[in-house]
Amino acid sequence: LRVRIEALPALSGASRSFIAMIDDLTDSERMREMRSDFVADVSHELRTPLASVLSIVETLNGAARDDPKAQQRFLKMLEEQARRMARIVEDLLSLSRIEMHEHQAPTGVTQLNDVLRNVAEVCQFAARERDMRLEIDLPERLDVVGDSHELTRLFQNLVDNALKYGDRGTAVRIHASVARNMARVAVSDRGPGIPREHIPRLTERFYRVDKGRSRAAGGTGLGLAIVKHVVNRHRGELKISSVENEGSTFTVELPLAPG
Ligand code: ADP
Repeated sequence: LRVRIEALPALSGASRSFIAMIDDLTDSERMREMRSDFVADVSHELRTPLASVLSIVETLNGAARDDPKAQQRFLKMLEEQARRMARIVEDLLSLSRIEMHEHQAPTGVTQLNDVLRNVAEVCQFAARERDMRLEIDLPERLDVVGDSHELTRLFQNLVDNALKYGDRGTAVRIHASVARNMARVAVSDRGPGIPREHIPRLTERFYRVDKGRSRAAGGTGLGLAIVKHVVNRHRGELKISSVENEGSTFTVELPLAPG
């Protein structure tokens, strides 16, 4: 704690007044630390693609100057790096928007079945690219209290990950049900799984088990941080279970809509 005592300007004839200010330094210090960690993390994430962009431009201006084939190749690399930076910025903006409203739970009703069917449809293309199938198993009706855009984002991130990290040729399963008065959606994959010691840290921003694999698959390291914040805002719960060399299941529970 920091205590500051300051004298207030004395009014003529009045007795002098003092004001005491007590700061909880632990909190403000922690906030400051978190902010500077965040800036360091973001800078670090953007520095790698930026360095690539600069060296590609240098090559385009130098060694590849008179080589149209090489130019094509380098332009493609340039596009990839720019897209990667755009994805990071896009995810950071989503994360900050959701965090900003986190204290305010959504009030609307969303039909989760529609959200899950949409997500499955959007992800079909990515599934086909990896020779994977999406199996979707829904109850007749599943209405939750929630924001349909945020919930779409949440399940899209989970299904994207299952398709990114699951083994080629396997199926990803989306199973929804009602359990203990909550809507429960489990997204499961068959794949390498996640070593137990990493599980508690997966929802930290930029935390990855295998950086190379995440980057190669176009990951930003922010997907599960977004998932966690959407779940928190919806007063729901996220559970992660995984068996190495078998696969992982990400389960989300959300409050059912009344009635
Ligand atoms: P990324 O953009 O790297 O996928 P996420 O925040 O979505 O970032 O996930 C964080 C990390 O968690 C990933 O880099 C990966 O190591 C691990 N992960 C997430 N989903 C799965 C999954 N279904 N199977 C195995 N590992 C996963």
